[in-house]
Amino acid sequence: MQLSDPITSLKGVGEATAAKLAQLKITTLYDLLYFFPRKYDDYSEIIALKDIQPGAVTVKVKVEKASSRQVRRGLHITEAVLSDGTGKIRAVWFNQPYRMASLQDDKEFFMSGVFDRQRDRFVLMNPAVEKVADFNRSVARIVPTYRESAQLKSSLVRQLIAQAAPLIPEIPESLPASVVKREKLMPVGDALLQIHFPDSSKALAEAKSRLAFDELFELLLASQLNKRENNSLPTWQIPYDQDVAEQFINQLQFSLTGAQKRASWDILQDIGADRPMNRLLQGDVGAGKTVVAAFASFMAHRQQLQVAFMAPTEVLGAQHAESLAKLLTPLGVNVGLLIGSVKPAAKKILKQQLENGELHIVVGTHAIIQDSVNYSRLGLVVVDEQHRFGVKQRRALLTKSERMPHMLAMTATPIPRSLTLTVYGELDVSVLDERPPGRKPIKTEIISPVSVAQMYKRVELELEKGRQAYVICPLVSESSTLDLKNVEMEYDKLRNNIFKKWRVGLLHGQMTPEDKDRIMRDFKDHKLDILVSTTVVEVGVDVPNATCMVIESADRFGLAQLHQLRGRIGRGEHQSYCFLVPSDTKQPSKRLQEIAKSEDGFYLAEVDLELRGPGQLYGIRQHGALDLRLATISDTQLIAKVQKAVKAFLESDDNLLQYPKMSERIDVLRRLTRFN
Ligand code: ADP
Ligand code: MG
Repeated sequence: MQLSDPITSLKGVGEATAAKLAQLKITTLYDLLYFFPRKYDDYSEIIALKDIQPGAVTVKVKVEKASSRQVRRGLHITEAVLSDGTGKIRAVWFNQPYRMASLQDDKEFFMSGVFDRQRDRFVLMNPAVEKVADFNRSVARIVPTYRESAQLKSSLVRQLIAQAAPLIPEIPESLPASVVKREKLMPVGDALLQIHFPDSSKALAEAKSRLAFDELFELLLASQLNKRENNSLPTWQIPYDQDVAEQFINQLQFSLTGAQKRASWDILQDIGADRPMNRLLQGDVGAGKTVVAAFASFMAHRQQLQVAFMAPTEVLGAQHAESLAKLLTPLGVNVGLLIGSVKPAAKKILKQQLENGELHIVVGTHAIIQDSVNYSRLGLVVVDEQHRFGVKQRRALLTKSERMPHMLAMTATPIPRSLTLTVYGELDVSVLDERPPGRKPIKTEIISPVSVAQMYKRVELELEKGRQAYVICPLVSESSTLDLKNVEMEYDKLRNNIFKKWRVGLLHGQMTPEDKDRIMRDFKDHKLDILVSTTVVEVGVDVPNATCMVIESADRFGLAQLHQLRGRIGRGEHQSYCFLVPSDTKQPSKRLQEIAKSEDGFYLAEVDLELRGPGQLYGIRQHGALDLRLATISDTQLIAKVQKAVKAFLESDDNLLQYPKMSERIDVLRRLTRFN
């Protein structure tokens, strides 16, 4: 038997099972041993029958007598009397007619199950049974449960892993020996053995932490290598110029917040160095990211460099172009908007101006990276909501310059620090954690479905004051026709009944981009009072006059999504209200309570990470194949430890090429996590 042997070399694996395993990416014995349990049940403590209590138990017993009978159709009962010398109990198995045969033996058994009341007496219900003489696999230990999918039972996986287990000592150490030694890590073989066959919960914890260390080490090393590579590329150096900075700041209608100053300083220092910036600017909606980007853009402009500013949609592109023009036109900067709806003749002129350098800043969607768009000197690329841009598109944009342009990604999705350190590890991060002054906090309330009439009255009160409102309906996917019916029904209900005298619009994902843009513009121009929408209503859309948001079936949204949605309101001088309507009258979920309590995106992101684990978080899913088997990405203590280890490794004489297997995995990770 060898690690590279196909899974079919194991007893009990035919073609059908092999196909199911292949779906889990398990084709060799090596893969199988690296398939980690999802959870564990602790059956390790063996209870003497005299001490037995209700609950999950393991006992070590002999069978005194056993009987089995068909009670009626669909109900077969096997019963046994068990003893261990200290006491006796009864066990019952339902519909397991084969069970009788295995109980005939005069051997000792481990039995694990739940000791519970059945009618008038306590019995051990449906226990798993194994002979003590056999290798204990499913009972009398901490029993792992594997991800069950494609009708692949955990018990089968356990049985296969037990077969392959003798190979574990042959698994090569996955980390450089120097790292294992320096960090005093459990050897990988021991860790794999403990992860599948834990001796104790302490050993299991150590094994998990060791294997998580591997994952994080590779991830962080990959991002550090990407960072080094990025840093070695030639770029445009944009030295900090005090006069230019003062010019920009002096013409602002407001003073920068402390957070804006800090972020601007980070960025200006970055672009002043002789390596390309690769920075993520995080800030909740309304935190004022655009001004910071404009500051850097102005500095680049004064070095005769151009700026490309990419937005995820045309509406947002137009909005950005407007705010940038407001900030920079007075300073002599030419800002142009290059989007699909621009007339061909005008487009041609814009492109010419870009090519000859007359146009200083171009704002647009993916159109500005099309082959037909050329730049004179592209020095800075700003990407708003970068999650929505593929790696390929980014790369295309970066080939538009003879040197590597500086790159500033902006996002309103608050990302917990543990994630920026790992998944976004190759980016430097600035955070706008302070709002511009004068904003009123949004009032958020959970509204019971039975009290919606009152809520609609309150919305109407706002409409009468000249304000506008969003009504958001949930959906599973933008393409589901079932969900489409939901929004359309809601739209009809509001338009024809509740808000009959108001102008109500509808927005959803199955509309054409042109229709979506038109509706959004109508709402922005106050040609509509109410917008009934699915979640397509854009991140970053700025309608300061909208002060109300009703979120229907709010319990069906994720925390991050609720926060994003709510960010559409509270953007102006007026008091805003967010009403969360759960789909039933039960006690509102923790999610809803948290969102009602806090407006702090970073706090909510941490709560979200805690409640759901990292796999579900926005941004992580986008990384697809970045599948971390042990969900430890939120373990900041471990991250700090691994960070140190990576640094020490990079500074040591140890060379990655000595570890071909790790090298290979790191190459994959580098491709997955790189941002340019
Ligand atoms: P974001 O892109 O982070 O959501 P914006 O850059 O669009 O936020 O800014 C939101 C609004 O706040 C804009 O109207 C902007 O002019 C204004 N703003 C930005 N910074 C400040 C500040 N320091 N003081 C007052 N208003 C500000
Ligand atoms: Mg914005």
